[in-house]
Amino acid sequence: MDNTLYIVVPCYNEEEALPLTAPVLTAKLDELIGKGLAGAESRILLVDDGSKDGTWGVIKGLYEENKRFAALRLSRNRGHQNALLAGLEYAAAHGDVTISIDADLQDDVNAMDEMLSRFAEGCDIVYGVRSSRSSDTFTKRFTAEGYYKVIAALGGEVIFNHADYRLMSSRAVNALLQFPERSLFLRGMVPMLGYKTATVEYERSARNAGESKYGIKKMLTLAINGITALSARPIRMIAGVGAVLFAAGIVALIAMLIAGAAAAAIAAVSVWGAAGLVLLALGILGEYMSHIYEEVKARPRYFIMDTLE
Ligand code: UDP
Ligand code: MG
Repeated sequence: MDNTLYIVVPCYNEEEALPLTAPVLTAKLDELIGKGLAGAESRILLVDDGSKDGTWGVIKGLYEENKRFAALRLSRNRGHQNALLAGLEYAAAHGDVTISIDADLQDDVNAMDEMLSRFAEGCDIVYGVRSSRSSDTFTKRFTAEGYYKVIAALGGEVIFNHADYRLMSSRAVNALLQFPERSLFLRGMVPMLGYKTATVEYERSARNAGESKYGIKKMLTLAINGITALSARPIRMIAGVGAVLFAAGIVALIAMLIAGAAAAAIAAVSVWGAAGLVLLALGILGEYMSHIYEEVKARPRYFIMDTLE
């Protein structure tokens, strides 16, 4: 088997970061080809996720300068996970192995050598894992690491401190493409594939230019998708909470009968508490329902508007 590598880079409003990222990636790819870790026909595939700034212009310029670049342009912004999958789908159809990495190079490109060595040894999936999060703020680190723990507690399988920096063979990508779901949480879906896997550690640094393109809304959507995609346990927990509340209601009733004075207070708390919990329960059910609705509609994930190859 040949080892044509596609480095897949989703880009949303990255006109500032791309001019810094591009030379680092081309130098890295040349080095990998030189070492025999990647085939001579390897490419850097830039996926423009419907950017509103000059990203596509920058990409066209890069493509004209250096034939190592290939590019896709989505018809509109579809979000990081969809853009990444679009790139992986194209890459798996054209090459043997893919590595996905963000456009801001927060992930260390030097981990690619080891990823490809693992691939050469027969691994289909190699996860890049952050060995430290010292470049993240305390809040980001706390929420992100807490989130991985919540998913694990709910029974979901995720690789701790792995985001979307990973190597996948085309065979593994083609398996991933058979998952029909529209609400994508790739880092939770990939471990379901099986195959031989490995992890490679690296230091995560700060964004090389521009602001984070993951606003709080996009981040929350990804976080909720992650839970609903991997676990139905929150729905079951509703029944548990209901049972506990029912028992508490009986206790409150007895307490009210005994202590006439405190009765009003207990009654008020019970009413507010119970109403809040019922709404919360409805909210959790609604979250799953809205995902079922999305899945039933099964709308296309993206449309490709331009291709440079
Ligand atoms: N991104 C994308 N579409 C979006 C948002 C982000 O393709 O709607 C890309 C972005 O260009 C970057 C990657 O996803 O390559 C990760 O985004 P970012 O670095 O802003 O996220 P953070 O590192 O702050 O979590
Ligand atoms: Mg980033």
